[in-house]
Amino acid sequence: MTPAYRALDERLRAFAALGKAEGLLSWDHAVMMPSGGAASRGEACAAVSSAMHALLSGADFGRLLDAAEAETPGDETQAAMRRWARREFERRRRVPAALVSELARHAALSHEIWVEARAKSDFSLFRPALERMFELKRRQAEALAPAGDLYDAWLQEFEPGMTTGEAASVLDAVRAGLAPLVKSVLARGFEAPVMPGVYPIEQQRRLGELAVREMGFDFERGRLDTAAHPFCCSLGRGDVRLTTRYSEQLPFSSLYGCMHEAGHGLYEQGTGEDLEGTPLATGATMAMHESQSRLWENVVGRSRGFWKRWTPRYHEAFPQTRGLTPEDFYRAVNHVSASCIRVEADELTYGLHVILRFELERDLLAGRLRAADLPEAWNAKMKDSLGIVPPDDARGVLQDVHWAEGLIGYFPTYAIGNVISLQLWEAALAAKPGIEGEIENGGAPSLLSWLVDNVHRRGRTGTAAEIVAAATGRAIDPAPYLRYMTRKYAELAGLSS
Ligand code: ZN
Repeated sequence: MTPAYRALDERLRAFAALGKAEGLLSWDHAVMMPSGGAASRGEACAAVSSAMHALLSGADFGRLLDAAEAETPGDETQAAMRRWARREFERRRRVPAALVSELARHAALSHEIWVEARAKSDFSLFRPALERMFELKRRQAEALAPAGDLYDAWLQEFEPGMTTGEAASVLDAVRAGLAPLVKSVLARGFEAPVMPGVYPIEQQRRLGELAVREMGFDFERGRLDTAAHPFCCSLGRGDVRLTTRYSEQLPFSSLYGCMHEAGHGLYEQGTGEDLEGTPLATGATMAMHESQSRLWENVVGRSRGFWKRWTPRYHEAFPQTRGLTPEDFYRAVNHVSASCIRVEADELTYGLHVILRFELERDLLAGRLRAADLPEAWNAKMKDSLGIVPPDDARGVLQDVHWAEGLIGYFPTYAIGNVISLQLWEAALAAKPGIEGEIENGGAPSLLSWLVDNVHRRGRTGTAAEIVAAATGRAIDPAPYLRYMTRKYAELAGLSS
C-alpha cells in the first residue's frame, strides 16, 4: 500500500465505522427505542451524519484523493475504493450545503404532510409539498449533472453507473412482455384456496426463523427481530440484522418477509473478508440488493419444490391447513389479482406497478405532466395496465412514501432487481443443476455458494451491469425474467403458451 492510498484508506475506514454507528442508532430506533427517545435520537443521528459528511467533503479530503489518484493504481479493490471515494466527493462537493439542508428540512415536513394527506385521502393537501420536492430535486440534479440527463442524477443516487436510457430499455421490454400476459392471466384467472383460520404469531416466528436458517443465514453473525416496517441493516459481515412483522390473519406475510430480508442479509454476510471495514463491504446497488431478496423470496420461496418441504410444517404449526396439498399452497402463494397497492401486489403484476411510477416521474421531470394532474394520470395508467381504478387517492397516488421523502428515481431499481434475479437464477442453474432438488430438501446450499462466489464476495466493487456481466456473461437482460413469468403463470392459469 502506497502512502497516499494508505491515508485515503484510513479516511474511508473511519467513514465506514461511523456508518455502522449510524446504522445501529437507526436499527435501535426501529426495533428497541421507547417513543420518548425520538428527540435525543434525532440529535445523535444528526451529529453522526455530519461527522461522516465532514470526513468526505472538505478540501483536505480532495487533496488526499488527488494524491491517491496520482499514484500507480494498485489492485482492483484499490481502484474501486478510489472510484467510490471520487464519486462521493463529487456528490458532496457539487450540491450547495444550503440546498442539502433545505432538502432535508423539506423531506421531514413533506413526510408529515403526506401522512395527513394519505389519512384523509386528499391529494390536494399534498400537492404543494410534492411540487416543492420536485423543484428542490431538480435543483439537486442540475448541480450533480449540469450537462447531463437530470433523471440520470436521480437514478444514480440508488443505481450508480446506470443511465436512464439503460433503465428505460429494460423496463420497456418488461412492460411489453408483462402487460399482455397479465391481461390474459387476469381474464382467465385461476383457482387458489382461501386460507382458513388464524395463524398464531409464536408459530410464525418459529417458522420464519427456520426458513432463514435453512437459507444459510448465519445466526452467529446476525439476528432476526420485529419492526413495523421490515428491513435489513448491516453493521459489518459479522453483524447483520433482519426484521419482520407478524399478523395472525396473514399466513404467509411474515414467512416471505423473513425470506426477503434474509436474501438481503445473505448478501451482506457474504461480502468479501478483504473488504471488511471499508465502504465497499456492502451490496453493490439497490437493484443488486433487490435481486437477492427477490430471488429467495419469489423464485425459491414461491416454488413447488419449496412447498413440498413446507406443507407438512404448515400442517403441524397450523392444524386448520391439514386438508391442503402442496399444490394448494403453491397456488395460494402465487395467486394473481389486479390490486391497487404496490407492496401487496403479487409477483406477476408487481413490475407494472413500478413501471407506472417510473413513467410518471419522467413525465413530471420533462414537463409533460403537471403535479395537479397526477392523480388522474395515475388512475389512467392503472386502468390501462391492470384494468382497475383506485377508489381513492390513498390507494392510488398517495400510497408510497418515496416521493414525500425525496426518493425520486428509486422505483426502477425494484423492477431491475427482479430482472437481475432471474438472470442470476438461470446462470446458477446452468452451473449447478442440483439446485432445484436441494430446495425440496431444505435450503439451497449450491445456490448460495454460487451467489457468494459470483455476487456477494464482490461487495460494492462494481456496478450492477459489471457484476451481472461477470456472473452471467451478458448485459442486464429481461429475457430470463419474462421466460420465467410466462412459463409459470401461463401454466397456473391454464393458458396455452
Ligand atoms: Zn428489499
